[in-house]
Amino acid sequence: EPLLSVRDLEKHYPIEEGFLSRRVGTTRAVDGISFEIYPGETLGLVGESGCGKSTAARSIVRLDEPTGGEVIFNGDGRGRAERNDDGTHPNDVTRFDRAELKAFRRDVQMIFQDPASSFDPRMTVGSAVAELLSVHGMTDGRRRRGIVENLLERVGLSATDYDRYPHEFSGGQKQRVALARALVLNPDLVIADEPVSALDMSVQAEVLSLIEELQATFGLSLLFISHDMSVIERICDRVAVMYLGELVEVGPVEEIFAEP
Ligand code: ADP
Ligand code: ADP
Repeated sequence: EPLLSVRDLEKHYPIEEGFLSRRVGTTRAVDGISFEIYPGETLGLVGESGCGKSTAARSIVRLDEPTGGEVIFNGDGRGRAERNDDGTHPNDVTRFDRAELKAFRRDVQMIFQDPASSFDPRMTVGSAVAELLSVHGMTDGRRRRGIVENLLERVGLSATDYDRYPHEFSGGQKQRVALARALVLNPDLVIADEPVSALDMSVQAEVLSLIEELQATFGLSLLFISHDMSVIERICDRVAVMYLGELVEVGPVEEIFAEP
């Protein structure tokens, strides 16, 4: 049973022009894509720049509001639910209310390309990670700190890094912290949007090794967005290929990369 089923997902942007912002057309950024993510697998979402990968990811978690389609989330022990009488699905993220969305965003975490953008410069990285535990109800500060220190070690940093500020970390180290933060609530799914693209090649390799380790030890389920086929080939079990807002191919990584 899939963890996440994306059904005919669509995000169209209006194109507006001129002083009165008249609508002169539509950008079909994501134009009806469907795919599944199964527990424990890493699905690569690939395609050239501008084909709609980020928009798809942002629409799934509703950082952008999709204009059509369904996102059925079966994580968090929801299991398969029957459709409602009106044909809608009770686990459809696109129909979640505020409270359901909050719970969903605990279960599905995102990591972005630019590590700097994900951190408040005035907050130590440890407290930034611990804050999530606090927001989701863990009141014991010492316990929070213990969990975060542990996690920092698991992503290749050290417990003493807890009290350091983002500017004291390199880009690769910041992505390690971003991974720690993505994992601290034991999410069902992590969506990583070009997480290594902004890093130097040698640092990319290190962060990819870490992700491989986390795949093995956490049983991580991952949607991994990249335009870099060598990265995809290394990290992913299956690949979904986007082109101009549509999905042109989905299959196991060996199949997609096999010479014709
Ligand atoms: P074909 O090779 O027959 O054109 P594909 O399914 O391989 O069919 O590709 C369809 C379209 O998707 C192509 O026009 C190609 O430019 C684009 N495409 C395929 N793979 C990638 C990729 N990895 N990155 C960007 N675009 C891709
Ligand atoms: P990718 O992640 O594959 O590089 P994007 O999802 O960023 O592609 O962009 C897909 C298309 O949607 C592009 O043509 C882009 O210009 C357009 N687009 C993305 N965000 C917006 C927006 N906020 N308003 C209008 N068009 C957008």
